[in-house]
Amino acid sequence: MKGPAELELDLSPEDEAFRDEVRAFLDVNLPEGWGTRRYQGPRDEAGRMQFQREWQRRLHEAGLAAIAWPKEYGGRDAGFVMQMLFDTELARRRAPDPINRSAVAYIGPTIIQWGSAWQKERFLPRILSGDDVWCQGFSEPDAGSDLAAIRTRAVLDGDDLVVTGQKLWTSKAHFADWCYVLARTDPEAPKHQGLSCLLVEMKTPGITVRPLRQISGRADFNEVFFEEVRVPLRCVVGERNDGWSIATSTLRYERAGLARTNRIERRLDILFALARELTVDGRPRLEDPVVRESLARFAVKIAALRNISARVRAAGLRDSAPGPEVSIAKLLTSELDQAMADYGMDLAGPHAALLRGSPHALKDGNVPLSYLIMRAATIGGGTSEIQRNVIAERVLGLPKSTQGSR
Ligand SMILES: Cc1cc2nc3c(=O)[nH]c(=O)nc-3n(C[C@H](O)[C@H](O)[C@H](O)COP(=O)(O)OP(=O)(O)OC[C@H]3O[C@@H](n4cnc5c(N)ncnc54)[C@H](O)[C@@H]3O)c2cc1C
Repeated sequence: MKGPAELELDLSPEDEAFRDEVRAFLDVNLPEGWGTRRYQGPRDEAGRMQFQREWQRRLHEAGLAAIAWPKEYGGRDAGFVMQMLFDTELARRRAPDPINRSAVAYIGPTIIQWGSAWQKERFLPRILSGDDVWCQGFSEPDAGSDLAAIRTRAVLDGDDLVVTGQKLWTSKAHFADWCYVLARTDPEAPKHQGLSCLLVEMKTPGITVRPLRQISGRADFNEVFFEEVRVPLRCVVGERNDGWSIATSTLRYERAGLARTNRIERRLDILFALARELTVDGRPRLEDPVVRESLARFAVKIAALRNISARVRAAGLRDSAPGPEVSIAKLLTSELDQAMADYGMDLAGPHAALLRGSPHALKDGNVPLSYLIMRAATIGGGTSEIQRNVIAERVLGLPKSTQGSR
């Protein structure tokens, strides 16, 4: 029987050659034992980062770091079929994420769409190679869903903007080299005007990063404080005060990037493994028709989502930025991810309460850890409520709500 990652498409010889190239790349570059119990990956953050940097470098050297980008910027101009093949092959081998996955997904495309020649030359190659790791400084204490409410200000002083304010929930800021910041450059202008998108080097004097510990025990995101941080004008993306249209295109690229099925494909493997290992009255849970049906439903949804996701990502750069339909893909992917992590808790039963360190923890405590981490899936990149608003208003043309712009 074919697994969900082995869909058959009518392929041209070029498509087949590309698929073989990706397969050969994975054969050569995935670590020994990858995807089996024999593989023991790095467990601490520094080790994980190093591994992801190395993976980014290898993808880049093989010309596979950003296949949807235009050729002139190091991509392959990938259309739907190519993107689908790439996603399928990576999913089949449960390939890891590179360190700059999010920068490739949305900061690079924003620079390609809006950036200056200098910015393209300076930043794009180093995003692909992973030499610069990026974070996104959009959200603030009183501006998340309502992103246009940001208060961080950037005041013109000679050839620089001087940035002061606070960002919140900034993933990766504790090790990023650069930050893509949304700041207010004209305090007199209406809320959605007078904003600018800035490229800020994290080692500039005046930046303080404070990690935030999450319910999972990990500290993946941060508070970032800017105190009179000087940013040269050449680091403004597009026109000064035109940041809202640029930031909203970034958000759509971001959502397209979040609508990937790699993680949920890995999660499905884990659910199958749990259902095989765990028994009730001496019989594996996988023999229970109710469990089988649940797993089959997840597998079918993943197969459909892989298709939707490849389409929105391939459409991205050819049509300037993905349209509001991208919210459908983001919503479905994050809700499915969360539902699958919840289902892991159901399968695990009493083991679900045991975290890493307990001798009876299942899968090294990863089931409850995933459950806790996945609370964030329907918040990061814009909440499910906001995605539903976008779909209602901008896809279906229903009347507008009065708040929430993210
Ligand atoms: C794991 C993770 C990583 C993140 N990484 C980053 C990052 O790197 N950079 C960054 O800038 N931000 C990041 N964020 C922040 C994220 O974008 C915001 O958390 C998100 O946009 C929601 O904003 P908020 O937390 O301020 O919640 P709020 O906007 O205060 O929302 C609170 C609740 O009210 C609901 N709500 C708000 N407005 C409406 C409305 N109009 N209609 C219906 N319901 C509404 C929301 O859905 C939510 O349930 C991250 C968040 C998470 C969870």
